[in-house]
Amino acid sequence: MPSYDLRCRECGNTFSKQLSFAERKNVVCEKCGSKEIEPIFKRCNLMGKGGGGETSSGSSSCSGGCSGCSGC
Ligand SMILES: [Zn+2]
Repeated sequence: MPSYDLRCRECGNTFSKQLSFAERKNVVCEKCGSKEIEPIFKRCNLMGKGGGGETSSGSSSCSGGCSGCSGC
């Protein structure tokens, strides 16, 4: 089962979790219990490829806690 790096949009907590595809939709924050969770690698890819003039802010947030993004 693949492991994902996830970030909570509510409290900013980041954590890794082994999830199946179905479980990814039901994951909650380990810290605050929020369901507003986003996978970190996905965010990085989006910002890296489509950032345009915002590459500086994109790369800075990317390098913070991303270990699985090929664009970092
Ligand atoms: Zn949270």
